[in-house]
Order: sequence, then C-alpha cells, then structure tokens
Amino acid sequence: MTTFNKTDRTTLKRLPARGFYDHELVFKILDEGFICHIGFNVDGRPVVIPTGYARVDEKLYVHGSQASRMWRTLKTGVDACVTVTLVDGLVLARSAFHHSINYRSVVIFGQAKLVDDAQEKVAALVAFSEHVIRGRWDDVREPTEQELKATTVLSLELAEVSAKVRTGPPLDDEEDYELPIWAGVVPLRVVAGEPIPDPRLPNNIPAPDYALKYERGSR
Ligand SMILES: Cc1cc2nc3c(=O)[nH]c(=O)nc-3n(C[C@H](O)[C@H](O)[C@H](O)COP(=O)(O)OP(=O)(O)OC[C@H]3O[C@@H](n4cnc5c(N)ncnc54)[C@H](O)[C@@H]3O)c2cc1C
Repeated sequence: MTTFNKTDRTTLKRLPARGFYDHELVFKILDEGFICHIGFNVDGRPVVIPTGYARVDEKLYVHGSQASRMWRTLKTGVDACVTVTLVDGLVLARSAFHHSINYRSVVIFGQAKLVDDAQEKVAALVAFSEHVIRGRWDDVREPTEQELKATTVLSLELAEVSAKVRTGPPLDDEEDYELPIWAGVVPLRVVAGEPIPDPRLPNNIPAPDYALKYERGSR
C-alpha cells in the first residue's frame, strides 16, 4: 500500500483512528468529490474560497479566470490548504452530545504552481470536465486560444495529505442505550434531478445520457 508520509501538520490529534494516509482511500475521496475549499492568506488575513478541482495522478488541478484574486495569489506559491468533504449521513444518537456526521474528508497542504505548458493546461481542463461530468468534453466546442489565455490553471502536488473518515452507528454512553429514543443513521448522498433544457435550446436536441443518468459516487 502506498501512503502519504505523516507530517506534524497532517497528524490527527482527535480520534487518530479515523485518520488515513493511503493513496487509495485519499484518491477515492478526491475522485468522488469535485468541490474543494482553498485557504490562503491575502494581505496577512486568511481567506477560504470554494472552487472545483480534478485529480490527475498525484496532482490536484484547479482553474478559473485569470483575473481572479485567488489564482493571482496562489500562483505566487503562497502556502495553501485545500479541503474536500463528502457527507455520508447524519448520525442520530440518544443524547444530544453524541450526535455526529458520517463523512469522508481530505486535507492537503502545499503550494500551487502555474501550469504554463499548453498541453498540460488543456489536459487539466479536459480532466476537470470529465471529472465533473464524464463524456461532456467530447460534445462541446473546444476552448479557443483566447479562452485558454483568459484561463489560469494551477496544479498542487499531493504530498502532504491526510484523510479522516467516520462511519457507522452512533456511539452512545452505555447507560443511554436503554432510553426509548430512536437512534441510527440518516444516509445522505448527491442525487441528480431531471435535466432542465436551456430555454434557447432547439427542441430537436435531446438531453445526452450523461445528463439524464448523472450519478456521483465512488468509481
Ligand atoms: C461550487 C463552486 C464551484 C466553483 N468553481 C470555481 C472554479 O472552478 N473556478 C473558479 O475560478 N471559481 C469557482 N468558483 C467561484 C469561486 O468561489 C470564486 O467566487 C471565484 O474564483 C472568484 O474569485 P475572486 O478571486 O474573484 O474572488 P475574491 O476576490 O477572492 O473574492 C472577494 C470576496 O468575495 C467574496 N466571495 C468570493 N467568492 C465567493 C463565493 N464563492 N461565495 C461567497 N463569497 C465569495 C468573499 O467575501 C471574498 O473575500 C466556484 C464556486 C462555487 C461555490
């Protein structure tokens, strides 16, 4: 099993048994999600901004407008912290105190790098598109030179990484198990609704299967 080296920053202090460092689990979580939150400092103050991402091997790719403060700041190589969270269920315990959430999350520390190689840049955008909705890239008009120029792509090496996972039923105090209170887990997952056609779409263009049957889960 390939694992990420634990560092001072990635060592879990609370409930360390829920910590994982193996590539397989970390990649599975990253591949199921597609939204991360990136924390960094701007003028000495912390900012945390949500954004999309895709993983390719041991790199996380993010992208957006060249004008964005986030990408302008991150491309200078400042320290960043990226988190990804998947919520799997609400854990209802018999006591208020022991309520919890079943989740899988990843925290990544590192510094982003500007992707200026044209091939890697396009590959990252394809990976992003395919990561969010597989099959879409082949159907769309590809970006022009101008559009590519207006887009910043950054990569972040997956090196200093931890995962934390909670699964299973509530963990109540022993004496509380006798209380006549329902306890258990309410599972939660991402479910796609019926696609809504763009009002300007000619009605002879049917929705593709990847929109009609969109699913997000472990791959
Ligand atoms: C689900 C999701 C996916 C996204 N995916 C992408 C992506 O792939 N690429 C991308 O470039 N952007 C993405 N965004 C938008 C992103 O969060 C930023 O709004 C965007 O990058 C603009 O950044 P900026 O540097 O111009 O904003 P900043 O100049 O950093 O923002 C200035 C201030 O605006 C407010 N602000 C900025 N963004 C948000 C926000 N999302 N919600 C609430 N307040 C905000 C904050 O107060 C912030 O301090 C995504 C947002 C969401 C919620």
